[in-house]
Amino acid sequence: MPSFAPRLVVACLVAVCGVFACLAAEDVRSGATVPRWRQHDIRRPKPPVVEPSEGPIAVKPPQDAVVLFDGSNLDAWQAPGGGPAPWKVSDGSFQVGAGTGPIETKARFGDIQLHVEWAAPDPPRGVGQDRGNSGIFLMGQFEIQVLDSYRAQTYADGQAGAIYGEYPPLFNASRPPGQWQTYDIAFRRPRFDTSGKLLEPARITLFLNGILVQNNEEPFGPTSWLKWLPYTDQGDRGPISLQDHNHPVKFRNIWLRELPERPAPTPAQLARAKVITLPTDVLDQYTGQYLLNAKPDAPKATVSRQDGHLVITFPFRPQPLGLEPISDHEFDMPFTDGRFTFRKDAGGRVTGVLFRIGDGERDMTKVTP
Ligand code: MG
Repeated sequence: MPSFAPRLVVACLVAVCGVFACLAAEDVRSGATVPRWRQHDIRRPKPPVVEPSEGPIAVKPPQDAVVLFDGSNLDAWQAPGGGPAPWKVSDGSFQVGAGTGPIETKARFGDIQLHVEWAAPDPPRGVGQDRGNSGIFLMGQFEIQVLDSYRAQTYADGQAGAIYGEYPPLFNASRPPGQWQTYDIAFRRPRFDTSGKLLEPARITLFLNGILVQNNEEPFGPTSWLKWLPYTDQGDRGPISLQDHNHPVKFRNIWLRELPERPAPTPAQLARAKVITLPTDVLDQYTGQYLLNAKPDAPKATVSRQDGHLVITFPFRPQPLGLEPISDHEFDMPFTDGRFTFRKDAGGRVTGVLFRIGDGERDMTKVTP
């Protein structure tokens, strides 16, 4: 027994670590190990039911939208890889062609705001995942589940509004089968470096019938069933595809807006005037109080010297702000595009300061020495 006990401990540790490896994952950015539910775990709490407002909420495409379906035809769609989309259009909507395979957009998209309306078959048929199942695949990789989840039971991460197999919706805001339901999706594509290393996972925000059900979630890989897959660099754009799960789910009013990249400042745009050093007697000329506007009883800002530097304290912001000299009478704010240009009278006495911030200006008169 004595010789068996250590082996048992090791065996237990191996078993525990093995299980742990299945239930935990490394956060891409922090490197921290985070717990993760097993896919389709029936113990995972079901989202609470919330009644959405009276529907449908048909949102017309805004002026800059890419309209993917306006009720008339499937010209923006194709069979995977090419060829006509075989699903049928009627009465301003189209229906999954059960057994004909998925369809995808001809165009490719990256970061988008996407609006989709869908309706589960009425009368309903089937149970669990076999009930009004379809799906919207972003970049052809990340499935937003479409399912008849109205008073219907299935595992949490497979309900309507789930990022399938990964994140259940926060709420079950489903409408009854046959009623139009809305998805409003904000999607940010994953980012990779030039070697294909994942820098930033995808992000998905989703409103189901006006209720937030995915709040900036980060899929931990492309949608896959029974086993998670790692991210791979599939380029900056991909199609939106709709799943054929053999159920006659209807769709209508599909449009998106492509989202721009936020521009980073160039080195030229970051360039600033050179900061100089001024002797304390020069700085002390500017200390005192300044009226924030032309009224005599206006609130005042205070310019003072702290540790050899000028600072300004506004009445609405008690923490003093450091000012950096770029000439003998001009001072910049280090974190803000703001400049203080002090002025003097003919006798060399400081009389005020022009405070420019962004594209606004404020002329402040000096009232105390
Ligand atoms: Mg599906």
